[in-house]
Amino acid sequence: MKSKSAAGENTVCYCTKCKMDLSHTIVAMIEDKIVRVKCRTCGSEHNYRDRTKKRATIKKGTSTAKRATPVKSPERRWEEAVFKAKGQDIPYEMSGSYNKGDIVLHVSFGRGVVLEVFEKKVTIIFEDKERVLAASY
Ligand SMILES: [Zn+2]
Repeated sequence: MKSKSAAGENTVCYCTKCKMDLSHTIVAMIEDKIVRVKCRTCGSEHNYRDRTKKRATIKKGTSTAKRATPVKSPERRWEEAVFKAKGQDIPYEMSGSYNKGDIVLHVSFGRGVVLEVFEKKVTIIFEDKERVLAASY
């Protein structure tokens, strides 16, 4: 093993054209450092890349941040609401009147529970999300 490389000798380094580690001929050196090499595979000349130095600068990503939002998903809230609700399922009608906690059966949205009752409106939680629907109070 030689302790020093010299121009004209071969070294294995990363080729920017071939995009892999390949055998290169040393073209230029500054003191004992290789500065320019020629790829023996594609013939292109490029600066010598010291990969060991580059690798040390790569920082570890801190993408392990957890989603700490304690907001309940609509499905979970819906499950709870249905669980708490009592009484029979009432088919939803725009002209119907509802009370808080009523289970409403909607033709398109399925089973829901009345959360709030307003004038001519009701907030009903369905399995996917809450909806404000018309009602006659
Ligand atoms: Zn190459």
